[in-house]
Amino acid sequence: MKRIYLFGEGNKSQKNLLGGKGANLSEMVTMGVPVPMGYTITADMCTEYYANGKKNADELLADMKEYNKKLEEATGKEFGSKTNPLLLSVRSGARVSMPGMMDTILNLGLNTDVVAGMVEKTNNPKFVYDIFRRFIQMFGEVVQGVEFDLFEEVLDEVKEKNNYEGDLDLTGDDWKYVSEKFLAIVEKETGKPFPQDPEVQLEMAVNAVFESWDTPRAIYYRNHNGIEHSWGTAVNVQEMVFGNTSDNSGTGVLFTRNPKTGTKEVWGEFLFNAQGEDIVAGIRTPLKLEEFAKVSPVIYKELTDILDNLEAHYKDMQDVEFTVEEGKLFLLQTRNGKRTGAAGVKIAVDMANEGLLTREEAVNSIDVDAIDQLLHPVFKEEAMASAETLTTGLAASPGAATGKIVFSSEKAAQLKEETGEKLLLFRKETSPEDIEGMVVCEGFVTQLGGMTSHAAVVARGMGKCCVSGCGELSINEEEGYMTINGVQYPELTPFSIDGTTGEIFAGSIETKAPEFSEEFQTILSWAKEIKRLGVKANADNGRDARQALVFGAEGIGLCRTEHMFFDEERILDVRRMILADNVEEREAALEKILPHQLKDFTELFEVMDGKTVCIRLLDPPLHEFLPQADEAAEVAKDLGVSEADLLRALETLHEFNPMLGHRGCRLAVTYPEISVMQAKAIIMAAINVAKTGKVVKPEIMIPLISTVEELKYLKGFIKETADALIAEAGVELEYKVGTMVETPRAALIGNLVGQEAQFISYGTNDLTQMTFGFSRDDAGKFLKEYAEKGILPNDPFAAVDQTGVGQLVELSTKNAKAVNKDIIVGVCGEHGGEPSSIDFFHRTGLNYVSCSPFRIPVAIIAAAQAELRNK
Ligand code: PEP
Ligand code: MG
Repeated sequence: MKRIYLFGEGNKSQKNLLGGKGANLSEMVTMGVPVPMGYTITADMCTEYYANGKKNADELLADMKEYNKKLEEATGKEFGSKTNPLLLSVRSGARVSMPGMMDTILNLGLNTDVVAGMVEKTNNPKFVYDIFRRFIQMFGEVVQGVEFDLFEEVLDEVKEKNNYEGDLDLTGDDWKYVSEKFLAIVEKETGKPFPQDPEVQLEMAVNAVFESWDTPRAIYYRNHNGIEHSWGTAVNVQEMVFGNTSDNSGTGVLFTRNPKTGTKEVWGEFLFNAQGEDIVAGIRTPLKLEEFAKVSPVIYKELTDILDNLEAHYKDMQDVEFTVEEGKLFLLQTRNGKRTGAAGVKIAVDMANEGLLTREEAVNSIDVDAIDQLLHPVFKEEAMASAETLTTGLAASPGAATGKIVFSSEKAAQLKEETGEKLLLFRKETSPEDIEGMVVCEGFVTQLGGMTSHAAVVARGMGKCCVSGCGELSINEEEGYMTINGVQYPELTPFSIDGTTGEIFAGSIETKAPEFSEEFQTILSWAKEIKRLGVKANADNGRDARQALVFGAEGIGLCRTEHMFFDEERILDVRRMILADNVEEREAALEKILPHQLKDFTELFEVMDGKTVCIRLLDPPLHEFLPQADEAAEVAKDLGVSEADLLRALETLHEFNPMLGHRGCRLAVTYPEISVMQAKAIIMAAINVAKTGKVVKPEIMIPLISTVEELKYLKGFIKETADALIAEAGVELEYKVGTMVETPRAALIGNLVGQEAQFISYGTNDLTQMTFGFSRDDAGKFLKEYAEKGILPNDPFAAVDQTGVGQLVELSTKNAKAVNKDIIVGVCGEHGGEPSSIDFFHRTGLNYVSCSPFRIPVAIIAAAQAELRNK
């Protein structure tokens, strides 16, 4: 077994074994980049260390001796030598970066003799005693567990006694005094003299780095970021180079492109006469790299040549640490740099145009999660510095918003009209009746509800931000205040919310609007050329449809017709229809609704000229359209019925489990005349628009079937209605009739459904609800805990559960396609816009996904990446 790799023996593909840092150091040595020499102890040795009960195997210790010799040969320096000592850094390096979580020891190899020799040789006691005290302090704290403050007290004492302002004022004698004091502290605290043998120091340091893998903060970080605890960390042992020997030395950190904007410019900072940690510690203000370039043009040129080489080699923007020791340049680290969403897009497109990446590689390099930043307002970074999170809920719809809080939709609408102020709607939960308030508010927060609750779905459709399932919130609408963690906030208090993270803040935080760059359009057009899955929009009206087209939608995959029923002008007729005692009365009410629907569908067909428009028949249980009992008197008056009659109707329609109740196609089975009216409106609108020369592709979708007979029964009415209208109009018009598969039973009978439907759209919101038996409106309360305790990897209403729900989708698709090779299969649940789900739907052979307009760009890129990943 190979336990240790000399830099240059490994390569960049060995991150799992050598860690990110070690793999890249090896790669750079092979590339001929000037890197201080060293070796990497593999991450497997860390695992072995723990397996042995926190002990290294003798074989590893023997190998370390051998590699120390190799290091001495490669550097021409010697461990423990007074005249030419080899000094080392010992650093962690896991396969994914865990910034600041694990330990580092610098300047290892110093002892009293080596220090004396170095002072004599360099004649620079200030430098030598400074690095000695740094070593004792770091080793003492990290390896031996001595309290940091004990060391700091000595430093403070020296500074105070001499009236020094900072560390730079200390003289050689001062540092000598400090280092002697530090040695005494370690001896007193550990009961043993400070270890003088460099090989002993090294073994202790390596063990300390292994053990830093298992500290509570590292474990917490891994849990939080989904990093496996079994991976372990590699250890890099590397020759020290010093940026703090004189003003001819220094240290810097940089990105090869601007990580905020993506602009092609070297972007970073440099400090003369300093060690790397000084930049991070922020004790002195570093120079911009431009200034360094002016002072040291030759080294700067050497550096930028190397950077060009690294970018071309890694095909990505690099984040680099470097040191200059007495005019000689060394690179200490390179890795792919973190960047904002906007920078990611610009860098990808620029690199493709520069010939560094193919278009496919450029699309693949995009972090889809960061794309959301480009489509929604975000908080200004400066403004976030002082923001304090009060509580966190589910990140239900991305974006940031700020405004005064209101607790009812009527109040919101009224205030907006009177004052025009920006408002945030805080509700226990929202229902379709809140639509007016939702239109006027900047964003929404709900106490209950999950990722597919009403508020979440509507927010995503509108492109507004939403935090749902915010359990620590309690709203007292009556008395006009809400409570978070025992503190009361009255109505109209300014608040800010972040639907990307789920955070709630008190006070106003400034936001900035999204920008659509040219590069963004370019990357979308490249992704469209690559992807195989169609990407359609869930849109109910002309405004959403137009927005969807701007983002690149290829059709409408779901129009939820009921959203139009809540319009003030129509709700009375809808209520009359519901309260009707017989078919005649109902048909009379439906006659009044028809012109409204006709207008809605006409607009959709006009906007979507040439593209498919899939319209779903009425889905929610009827009680959702009726008022609450306390508003019954007023509504009864408007309707011209008695309050008692209305209350009786409310009682009749009451269901214990409305989500499993009289809804979807079950409504249409009872009241086929509703479907007939809707089919009429759809086909009449299609005929009208077709007559204007536009291309109309209507699809009529029957929701929530569990048996194929439901589908057959309703299809009969719909076809009869549609065919008669088409024949009467004497036009050529093709339309499709299909169904949603959103109950487990419907998914299990794909072979039967496939024979009757021209298309299937998986309603994965309901399918998830019914497969898990989790109420989509209530599960938010406990699902967070499921994720935290590792019972579910994530919220199944956000990312499709591939193991369970996914099997139903797979089985149904396979069986439906087996009996009907032309059948079109898609998904219109919220999962249609989520990248990991999109990858799954791609692999399952679906034809398209349909999602909220604001998720379309993410879906397009995720679909392209799925194609590239699974090619
Ligand atoms: C679904 O259930 O996935 C779906 C799209 O329908 P709705 O969310 O309207 O129930
Ligand atoms: Mg549904």
